[in-house]
Amino acid sequence: MKNILIIGAGASGMICAIEASKNINNHITIIDKNSVLGKKLLITGNGKCNFTNLEFDKDNLGKYYNNTIVKDVFDRFDNIDLIKYFENLGILSYQFDRGNNKYIYPLTNKSKDVLNTFKRHLNKTNINILLNKKIIDIYFNKKFIVKTLDENIFEFDYVVLATGGLSGFVDDEPKNTHYFSDKLNLKLIKPLSGLCALKSDDFLISGIKSFRSFCKISLFINDEIKKTESGEIQFNNHYLSGIPIFQVSSIAARALDMNKNVSVSIDFLDMSYNTNKNSKEFLLSKINKLADYTVYNFLLGIVNEQLIYKYIKILNINNEKTIKNLNSVELEKLINLLLNYRLKILGTQTFKDAQITLGGIDVSEINIKNFMSKKIKNLFLVGEMLDIDGICGGYNLQFAFSSGYLCGNFLRND
Ligand SMILES: Cc1cc2nc3c(=O)[nH]c(=O)nc-3n(C[C@H](O)[C@H](O)[C@H](O)COP(=O)(O)OP(=O)(O)OC[C@H]3O[C@@H](n4cnc5c(N)ncnc54)[C@H](O)[C@@H]3O)c2cc1C
Repeated sequence: MKNILIIGAGASGMICAIEASKNINNHITIIDKNSVLGKKLLITGNGKCNFTNLEFDKDNLGKYYNNTIVKDVFDRFDNIDLIKYFENLGILSYQFDRGNNKYIYPLTNKSKDVLNTFKRHLNKTNINILLNKKIIDIYFNKKFIVKTLDENIFEFDYVVLATGGLSGFVDDEPKNTHYFSDKLNLKLIKPLSGLCALKSDDFLISGIKSFRSFCKISLFINDEIKKTESGEIQFNNHYLSGIPIFQVSSIAARALDMNKNVSVSIDFLDMSYNTNKNSKEFLLSKINKLADYTVYNFLLGIVNEQLIYKYIKILNINNEKTIKNLNSVELEKLINLLLNYRLKILGTQTFKDAQITLGGIDVSEINIKNFMSKKIKNLFLVGEMLDIDGICGGYNLQFAFSSGYLCGNFLRND
């Protein structure tokens, strides 16, 4: 009989437990510090659980950091396998297309239904579920000895660390405590906030009330363009947010951590129906047509009114000045404000407001075939606690489920 502890009842821990429990000789305990199972799963995809994506090229996994490892994992359990796995559990799904993405959600559009299905399957087995128990210590001495905050001590032959990252809900514990990296001598890559808003003290967004606008944004690192995204941007006082910003935020976070110069440029016209992908030509024709308009009236209908006042201040012109009366420098400046407004990025949101954690336990610590530690036999690491992350769109849950499934499968068959 294998006496197995899984620490963390999130996506990776729950699927791992279900798979490992298919061997009746396994005695499994799953422990979570929360009072409920799958607390984070519940809030994913705005409560709808975007659990994977069909826009997925296994030979070009640019959507992931550490993607060679990810390829090896998805060669054995990919998005189609996950959709089928959910179906076998009883969860049907649908595809929602937007831009290049083919997001997959449960047909009922509710993460609660996904979670309840997982709970039902966990409860059907003889898995021992312990909630409200935070593991604070773990060491190996012939067996794994784990200690909880409420001073319980347990012994296990096998331990799976499925403790996720630091994002979403955070307590103030030091980062290496969360990852047990000191206790177990595991190499920790510095955790950083990922898939999150970017901070800027640029004049354009200082003091504004939040609004949304469809734009194209480009991320620059040390003046070199790294990534371009289009979609709905949320402008907040000192923060840029929204999916396009999230999609560039992980590159920005890593660059900021290396003290590089990070900026985001915004094209406010690119997504207009009429631009035909050339915002400059479109803008110039509009300037010609509406030359009699005041700058204020010209900008109304292009950008949010709050930005118009900012632009007029930046241009340092009179409110009544018309487009045709702008001198060439002012006109060029106006064009740049609309098509290429560059904001210096100073930081990211904190872990609490970030969707994922970059960094985590170095992937070189594990054997990717079964997720077992190379240093400590029968210790396994899965999910977001590893230094692997994907962009928004179901890619992170996919990795959590794939790694948890494969590890559970190994424990089932080993
Ligand atoms: C707001 C939000 C929305 C998101 N939306 C999506 C989405 O739509 N699609 C997507 O792919 N990804 C999404 N993500 C990311 C996704 O939720 C995570 O990547 C995924 O949940 C990671 O799964 P995991 O099992 O590795 O970790 P988690 O789900 O974080 O589970 C880890 C578990 O371990 C427990 N734990 C940690 N430390 C201890 C300890 N010491 N003792 C006991 N228990 C412990 C935690 O309480 C937790 O339950 C979202 C994240 C957030 C915050």
